[in-house]
Amino acid sequence: MYFCYIDESGTPDIPGTSSHYVLCGLAIPIDSWKKCDNQIRRIKHKYGLDNAEIHTGWILRAYLEQNKIPDFENKSYQERRALVYTERSKEIYRLQKAGNNKLYKQTKKNYRMTESYVHLTYAERMRFIEEIADKIGSWQFARIFAEGIDKTHFNPTKKITVDEMALEQVVSRFEQYMRNTDSTPISLFGAIIHDNNETVAKRHTQLMQKFHKDGTLWTKINHIIETPLFVNSELTSMVQLADLCSFVLRRFFESGEVNLFNRIKRRIDKYHGKMVGIRHYSNDACTCEICVERQRKKPTS
Ligand SMILES: [Zn+2]
Repeated sequence: MYFCYIDESGTPDIPGTSSHYVLCGLAIPIDSWKKCDNQIRRIKHKYGLDNAEIHTGWILRAYLEQNKIPDFENKSYQERRALVYTERSKEIYRLQKAGNNKLYKQTKKNYRMTESYVHLTYAERMRFIEEIADKIGSWQFARIFAEGIDKTHFNPTKKITVDEMALEQVVSRFEQYMRNTDSTPISLFGAIIHDNNETVAKRHTQLMQKFHKDGTLWTKINHIIETPLFVNSELTSMVQLADLCSFVLRRFFESGEVNLFNRIKRRIDKYHGKMVGIRHYSNDACTCEICVERQRKKPTS
C-alpha cells in the first residue's frame, strides 16, 4: 500500500500572486514510511531543527537582520538566536512607532513563520533543503506525481478550475502508476493524504467521490481508496516533503532553477523510460526539460 502525500505551491487563483500553480504528490510505500521518517528526523537534528516544520518557502527567504549582525556565522546557534531576536524586536518597535500597520503585520507574520530557522545562515538553510532533497532523490521506492500549470495559458472559461484540474491529473497519475506496478487480481492500494486546508478540503473530497464514481477524464479509479485524508502539515513531516517538492517544481517552472530540481527529479514516475509522472501545462513552445522529456518538443540546442 502507498500513501501519496499531496501539497501545493503558488496560488490557484487567476491571476493570483504567482504565474504557476503546482500540485505535487509524493508516494511512499507504507513499509518504508518508518525508515523515511527516521532519516528526515536525523537531518533535522543535525541542523537544530528537531521540532521545526520543514516549510521550504519560509526557510529559503533572505533574513535581512542576519546581515546586520557582525560575524554572524561564527557565533553559536544560541547566540545567533538571541541576536536575531534583539534585531527583530527593535524592528517591530520601530514599525509600531512609524504607524505602518500593514507592514507591521506583514513583518510580524514573517518573523513568526521563520523563527524556528533564524539560527541558521542562508547557506546552512540551503544546505539543509539540499540534504532533504537528496534524501528524497535516493528513495528508489518513492514516486513523484505532479502537475504544473502556467496560469497565463489556462482558459478561465473552462468548466474546471486550476486546482481541480491539477488534482485530477495527480490522482490519475498515481492510479496509473499503481496499475502499471500491480498484478491481477488487484492487490496494490493507495490513499491520498493532504494538508488540511479548509478551502480545498470540501471540494477535493467531493471531487474524489466523483472520481470514484465516474473515473477521471483519463482513467477509472481502482487502486486509490477513500477520499483524501487531511492532516496537519505542521505535525506530519511527509506532507512537508510534498511541500518541498511542489516548491522546487514551481521554482523550476517559473525561474528555471535546477539545483534542487535535479536532486529530486529521479523520483518523478517513468514508464518505459518516459517521464509520465509530471506535466507542464503551458504553451507548445515551452522547451523546459519536462516538456522536452515528455516528447512534446525536441530540444532547441
Ligand atoms: Zn515546460
